[in-house]
Amino acid sequence: MIHGTIVVAKDICKACELCITACPQECLELSPHLNEKGYRYAQLKNDTCTGCINCAIVCPDSAITVYRESKKKNAS
Ligand code: SF4
Ligand code: SF4
Repeated sequence: MIHGTIVVAKDICKACELCITACPQECLELSPHLNEKGYRYAQLKNDTCTGCINCAIVCPDSAITVYRESKKKNAS
């Protein structure tokens, strides 16, 4: 199972919500806080991100960076 996480460049986000709609894990939401442009920015709301990158692909402002890590198995 791949675990992923994202980082949103919050001051670039303009709250279009395309990433929220595109996320198959439903793990994105708009923050209750405002960025420097006065928009509620996208953020992760739980730990179910799989790193599928759908959100990064649909973001018109390239505000999302996705990171993935596989869960390592012990060799011993
Ligand atoms: S990488 Fe995929 S699962 Fe993770 S927040 Fe983006 S759309 Fe959702
Ligand atoms: S798609 Fe991009 S600009 Fe739109 S809400 Fe998500 S992070 Fe913000």
